[in-house]
Amino acid sequence: QSQEVSQARIDYHVALQALQEHGTRMVCTGKMHTDRICRFDYLCYSSEAEEFVFFHSNSSVMLPNLGSRRFQPALLDLSSVEDHNTQYFNFLELPAAALKFMPKPVFVPDITLILNRFNPDNLMHVFHDDLLPAYYTMNQYSDLDDEARLVFMEGWSEGPHFDLYRLLSSKQPLLKEQLKNFGKLMCFTKSYVGLSKMTTWYQYGFVQPQGPKANILVSGNEIRQFARALMDKMNITRVEEMEKEGGSGEDEKEKEKKDDYIVVFSRSTTRLILNEAEVIMALAQEFQMRVVTVSLEEQSFPSIVQVISGASMLVSMHGAQLITSLFLPRGAAVVELFPFAVNPEQYTPYRTLASLPGMDIHYISWRNTKEENTVTHPDRPWEQGGIAHLDKEEQDRIQASKEVPRHLCCRNPEWLFRIYQDTLVDIPSFLEVLKEGMKTKPSLKKAKVASTVHPGRVREPKCQTSVQTTNEAKLTVSWQIPWNLKFLKVREVKYEVWIQEQGENTYMPYILPQQNYTFSENIKPFTTYLVWVRCIFNKNLLGPFADVLTCRT
Ligand code: UDP
Repeated sequence: QSQEVSQARIDYHVALQALQEHGTRMVCTGKMHTDRICRFDYLCYSSEAEEFVFFHSNSSVMLPNLGSRRFQPALLDLSSVEDHNTQYFNFLELPAAALKFMPKPVFVPDITLILNRFNPDNLMHVFHDDLLPAYYTMNQYSDLDDEARLVFMEGWSEGPHFDLYRLLSSKQPLLKEQLKNFGKLMCFTKSYVGLSKMTTWYQYGFVQPQGPKANILVSGNEIRQFARALMDKMNITRVEEMEKEGGSGEDEKEKEKKDDYIVVFSRSTTRLILNEAEVIMALAQEFQMRVVTVSLEEQSFPSIVQVISGASMLVSMHGAQLITSLFLPRGAAVVELFPFAVNPEQYTPYRTLASLPGMDIHYISWRNTKEENTVTHPDRPWEQGGIAHLDKEEQDRIQASKEVPRHLCCRNPEWLFRIYQDTLVDIPSFLEVLKEGMKTKPSLKKAKVASTVHPGRVREPKCQTSVQTTNEAKLTVSWQIPWNLKFLKVREVKYEVWIQEQGENTYMPYILPQQNYTFSENIKPFTTYLVWVRCIFNKNLLGPFADVLTCRT
């Protein structure tokens, strides 16, 4: 910290003069507070007021200039969780002239990313809400490089996973608490405020029951690139693209098979698997593989990632530790266990992750359906699922219920009661679910072949028409292959043609293997048809339609 102060002093007068003359400048992206990230010159922070300060001068810039709509409800979300009212960002305004009466500002020379961590105590939240969004926000703005400074404004202390946040840049992240040490007024020379929400896939149930986000924009590719970058930072020697079903020759397959192993991620304080040893034995026997256990209580995080990154299967009770499935190799399987009365369909952060396009992780869930195999904890504190604080009647209702009804986040006592049960896993039903689930596991080879390159527009689309008789006509449509096709090896190329009679609101779709076709059925003389053509690779990779053709018979 003192180093920054002295480094800043070199240009101190220049910086102070710039602030006084130019004030603060802000330019943002995003139409709404929920998709906004702002870049600032000379955004200041008063540790006394615990507020950011925007200094107005003749040359300050504030774009968007929302007037008081800036408070309806806020300028932007400081965390990646959408529109959460504890995560809003705004600033106070002052005229730059007020600087004369204020404590001398301390300038932060680093390019800074200012954000809120959402729940730094929970590993799932750390990755989903903070690390992935921060990583890709830094990717978006090239001056947020390895030298960037991160500032966490949520007000929490470092938390148990601070080492992970440290991987994002070479500079120590700052906590809100530490800003005081810089004096009463600090000014960030250049800063970005807010986080990209592009990579998040789950909403936690603040306004509607939890579930996948409505419009998921991330694919397995971006998750894996992030995982790889993090592993490199953790100095994990990853087995280069060790894909479990890869390998060419039989020998290689044999060798890989020997190295195959299953990881059981165990929790040691809550939501226990009571017969873990039995589960491990059953897995080893069923798959003829080594089974290793890991737990956050016993291993360092990097050593856990090292193990998971080479596993064929990850088995765990539902819980934040399952976010580590993002380090699994392609082609691996995740098996998530759910306690009694918890419906796996309704709690799907890890299923959604595994199912992202291109993630290539096979997902299987098992739930305990035998009430005699569950161990409840009604007398624990409410946040660990205790229900002793509730009316007797409500306690009885919860105890008698066989499934937690849909509910909102975060303090539903019935949900907490059920999700914090310990479970004796019924081995026969567990193995049954596994066997069934593995039957539908796609082979990785197939997944790999399915390319992600989309066709371009078909070129030179043309139509020719002729009238046969008073009620017969022909319409010939032809086109050239998309420009990118000649560079690609595509298993199957097809074309889709839509024909619509002008003025009608329905159309006839045709799928064709060739580049021209003469339509005669349903084609009337002296009629205008609108024709659209597009290319399709491998059944489901759709290209764009070419410009519409207007064809008069
Ligand atoms: N945790 C753990 N072992 C346990 C219980 C919890 O390592 O026995 C970790 C868990 O991975 C998470 C944090 O503690 O990072 C909070 O756990 P909690 O049960 O509150 O959340 P959940 O796992 O349901 O998201």
